[in-house]
Amino acid sequence: MTIEVTKRVNNISPSATLVLSSKAKAMQAKGIDVVNLSIGQPDFNTPEHIKAGAIKAIKEGKSDFYTAAAGIQPLRQAIADQISNDYEIHVDADQIAVTTGGKFGLYAVTQSLVNPGDEVLIPLPYWVSYGEQVKLAGGKPIFVKPQEGLKITVEDLEAKRTEKTKVLIMNTPQNPSGIIYSKDELTEIGNWAVKNNIVILTDDMYGKLIYNGHHFISLWQLSDEIRQQSILVNGMSKTYAMTGWRVGYVSGPKEFIKKLTGFLGHATGNISAVSQYAALAAVTGPQDCVAMMRNEYEKRLNTIYPLWSEIPGFKVQKPEGAFYLFPNVAEAVKNCGFASTDDFCDALLNEAHVAVVPGTAFGMDTNFRISYATSMENLLEATKRIKKFVLDHQK
Ligand code: GLU
Repeated sequence: MTIEVTKRVNNISPSATLVLSSKAKAMQAKGIDVVNLSIGQPDFNTPEHIKAGAIKAIKEGKSDFYTAAAGIQPLRQAIADQISNDYEIHVDADQIAVTTGGKFGLYAVTQSLVNPGDEVLIPLPYWVSYGEQVKLAGGKPIFVKPQEGLKITVEDLEAKRTEKTKVLIMNTPQNPSGIIYSKDELTEIGNWAVKNNIVILTDDMYGKLIYNGHHFISLWQLSDEIRQQSILVNGMSKTYAMTGWRVGYVSGPKEFIKKLTGFLGHATGNISAVSQYAALAAVTGPQDCVAMMRNEYEKRLNTIYPLWSEIPGFKVQKPEGAFYLFPNVAEAVKNCGFASTDDFCDALLNEAHVAVVPGTAFGMDTNFRISYATSMENLLEATKRIKKFVLDHQK
């Protein structure tokens, strides 16, 4: 007998970021010199004081048992204090639930918010998992294309709003483009959501990675009214170079967090206790590691951005945050004789041995994404290879 998976699992596409990265790693394992710019994860090791927090917890036997499903109290408090401080608002510990990475935080929120048939607005370009998670909840992802550029406006949203619209997912700084929505842009969007009773899910994962004097503001900071109908998702992965530890969190109104915790109790129980103690050390410990890594990403961005802008047929908007470049390569794809950006990216991997993620995974097939969270050496080598690839293929 063939074991058949459910329709809902059958209907989702695999995560392009993870697939591409595995493919690049498999090629590397065969001895092929692949520069992997596909997955977005810091290339720094987790800072020593964070690892020490975890080791201490292990030695003291603190990590041997289940914890509360929403996380240990000191961590919930420390996260609440950090948000209160960063966003200049007041958040209580019982407004926090610690989750298995930001990804499961988002999953838990969609499971808790979206009923079958509900529509969820997702601006383009979007991170690969939003739409699939909405589908897994039985909802309908409604993708919102900006009239121009990489940012949606209230007019774009209004054009897609129906009676079934329940949630809007916002992500700034944005993965894959690194653009940041301004305070005025967010205020308009936030007020529109309030007026139309739409819950906002704000993914602030890259909020600490801002460059060249740009300023980040979260939807959560704008007004009490907007915050009361918003859910915040964030995590330790990008800020503290902790992707492998899987620590994310959800923050929202107490009653919502209580219900979401009920879901977590059945879905995961608590996240790994060791990881929680590492996260506690991250949030309560010295923050200079965050500045050090941010400075390094900024240096890389400022080095490679001008080089990428010179690649024939590439149009790159300079990112303000996160650690991705998202060039529009439509002209290069055409000039090189490829039928699609997917084909271009495939050939780039097979011939030039550079792994990037095609924009189709983010809803924009004119672009592709690279992560510059890798060494300067890798970045310069990849830039050289990509430029050569384009020049060689150009007709
Ligand atoms: N968020 C990162 C990325 O976009 C990690 C991979 C993933 O979970 O998609 O590459």
